[in-house]
Amino acid sequence: MVIIKTDKEIRQIKKSCQLTANTLQYITEKIKPGLKTIEIDKIAESFILKNGGKPSFKGYGDEGNEFPSSVCISINDEIVHGIPGKRVLQEGDIVSIDIGTYLNGYYGDSAVTVGVGKISKVAEKLIKITKKCLFEGIKKAISGNSIGDIGNAVQTVAEENNFSVVREFVGHGVGLKVHEDPQIPNYGKPKTGLKLEQGMVIAIEPMVNQGDYRTTSSDDGWTVKTADGSLSAHFEHTIAIYEKGNEILTLCN
Ligand code: MG
Ligand code: MG
Repeated sequence: MVIIKTDKEIRQIKKSCQLTANTLQYITEKIKPGLKTIEIDKIAESFILKNGGKPSFKGYGDEGNEFPSSVCISINDEIVHGIPGKRVLQEGDIVSIDIGTYLNGYYGDSAVTVGVGKISKVAEKLIKITKKCLFEGIKKAISGNSIGDIGNAVQTVAEENNFSVVREFVGHGVGLKVHEDPQIPNYGKPKTGLKLEQGMVIAIEPMVNQGDYRTTSSDDGWTVKTADGSLSAHFEHTIAIYEKGNEILTLCN
């Protein structure tokens, strides 16, 4: 069931989203070779707590397999849901950081991919194109359009650049829960799927692979990787859909 939000709820969700965005910015400024991913997690967690929020991914999931950390950190061929740990960032890595915050009853969700030091030309292009996919998707996320319009825009940009979009993981409604209906795939046909309407709050999150779109899971039960070992990038914003246009909620305040 899709939860349509009131203007008042959207204002509250925006506050949580701003905390997500501020945390993401605070973290990305600190990314450099030699940093352990667990250190990034600790910095993010203390920033979120200090600002009155909670990391919404910590403890998320089925009983017995809860996500153990505050943020997801996925490096190089890791697509999403990477668990922070002892791994040390190396010059040339690309690192995707996905943050969810809970503030006063509302959720925000956002992700970026950044390079560590100097990165390869193809890594640079992958990051640039994935970000473009997100913004082309956002342009289509307006009242009267369909979910397929978003996915089609994302997929078109990725494939025009000889990259591929991940199928198994998708964007989603968000705001009153971490994940709500509807699902927002990063592929699709124009004018198909649920119609978008005023009051929807959705997270659009293209995951774009350098090579094949297929994924593989890891022994840790969370980390998702590209099946062919190629690089993957991930960008995400939470947006609100209005009668006319939309608003990106996960921007810094
Ligand atoms: Mg996310
Ligand atoms: Mg999300």
